[in-house]
Amino acid sequence: MNREPVTRELFNDVMVPNYAPGAMIPVRGEGSRLWDQQDREYVDFAGGIAVNSLGHAHPGLIGALQEQAEKLWHVSNVLTNEPALRLARTLCELTFAERVFFANSGGEANEAAFKLARRHGWTHHGPEKHEIISFTNSFHGRTLFTVSVGGQPKYLEGFEPAPGGIHHATYNDLGSVKALISKQKTCAIVVEPIQGEGGVLPAEPEFLQGLRDLCDENDALLVFDEVQTGAGRTGHLYAYEHYGVTPDILTSAKGLGGGFPVAAMLTTTAIAESLGVGTHGSTYGGNPLACAVAQKVIDTISQPEILKGVRARSDKLRKGMMAIGEKYNIFTEVRGEGLLLGCVLTEEWQGKAKDFVAAAQEQGLLILVAGGNVVRLAPSLIIPDQDIEEGLERFEKAVATLVE
Ligand SMILES: *Cc1c(COP(=O)(O)O)cnc(C)c1O
Repeated sequence: MNREPVTRELFNDVMVPNYAPGAMIPVRGEGSRLWDQQDREYVDFAGGIAVNSLGHAHPGLIGALQEQAEKLWHVSNVLTNEPALRLARTLCELTFAERVFFANSGGEANEAAFKLARRHGWTHHGPEKHEIISFTNSFHGRTLFTVSVGGQPKYLEGFEPAPGGIHHATYNDLGSVKALISKQKTCAIVVEPIQGEGGVLPAEPEFLQGLRDLCDENDALLVFDEVQTGAGRTGHLYAYEHYGVTPDILTSAKGLGGGFPVAAMLTTTAIAESLGVGTHGSTYGGNPLACAVAQKVIDTISQPEILKGVRARSDKLRKGMMAIGEKYNIFTEVRGEGLLLGCVLTEEWQGKAKDFVAAAQEQGLLILVAGGNVVRLAPSLIIPDQDIEEGLERFEKAVATLVE
C-alpha cells in the first residue's frame, strides 16, 4: 500500500467525478462534533444527511457493533439470523407493519417497495395494473427504477430509456392525482410525507389523507418513502404517526442504521404474500452486523423521552434560525418537522444555498442544502443544547460574512 498522505486533491485523481466533496476531510467524530485532518473542530448540523441519528461514535452503537463483530458477520439469506429476526419483530411491534424486508440503502428499499406494488397489482388484478403515481420534485433513490419514480428529471437525463408506467402528479395537489389515477391501471401512489431533497416541503395532512382515500377507492397501495423522515427524525418514530395516515408499504433507511448501511421495507401480511419465495432478494439485506446496530438505534430512539427531546431541540433550533433569518433578512420561512428543517431563502438569495454551506464550513459548522433555495438542517436527534447554541453562533458569523 502507498503510504503517502491522502489529501482532498487525491479525490480528483482516483475517484469517479460524480461527487464534489468539500475541502476538508473529516477523520473522527464524537456526538455532534467532527474533526478534520488538521484537527479543526466542526459542529455537525448535517448529520451525514439525516443518517447519524445518534451522532458520531455513540457508545451504545459501538458496543452493539463490536459485540456482533465478534460473533457473526454474514451468512446470506440461505439462512436467517438472530439480529435480523429480532429487528423485524421490534419494527412490527412498534409500527403498523406485520412483515419486513431488509435491504442496504434507501434506494434498494424503495426498489423492493415498487416491485412489490407491481407484483401485488399483477397478482390480484393482472398485468395492466402496473402504473405508479409519484410526485414532481420527489426523491426516491438512484437506481434506474427509483430515479424514474423520482420527480427530478435532471437525475434521469442521459440514462433513458426509463421504465414505463410512471406518472408524476403535483405535491399537495389532490386534483392532479385524481386526473391520473385509475382502478384499472394504478397499482400504487408513492409519496414522501415531507419532501426531503425536494426542499424540506411537508405534505398537508388533508393531502395525505386524500391519497389514502384515493388508494382505497382504486385498489391501489399507498407507499410512504420515509427514508429521510423515519427513525425518529420528525419527533415520531415514523412521520405517518404524526399525520395519522397509515400506508400499506413504508420504507426506512438513513437514520435507521445511525451510520451503518441498512434499510427496511415494512408492510402487511396480506401484501407481503405477493413476494413469494424467489421473487426478490439481496445478498447483504438483513446482514447481522447491520441489524445489530439498527436494533440499538431503534431501541434508543423509540424511547418517549428521546422523541420528546427531538421536539424540544427542534423548537430551539427553529427559533434560533428564525431569529438569524429575521436579523439578516435571508429566510422567508423555516419549515419541516422535528430535526428535519428547511430554511427557505428570500428572493435576493435564490439559488445561493450552497454559498451558505461553504461560509458555514469556514466558521466550523456543517449544514446542508435541499435544492438551490433551501438551507437544510438534519442534526443528531440527541444533539446537546450547547452544540445547538454554538452551531447557531457559527451560522450567524457565516451569514455575516455573506451579507457584508
Ligand atoms: C436519501 C433518500 C433515498 C435514497 O437513499 P439511498 O440510501 O441513498 O439509496 C430515498 N428516498 C428518500 C426520501 C431519501 O431521502
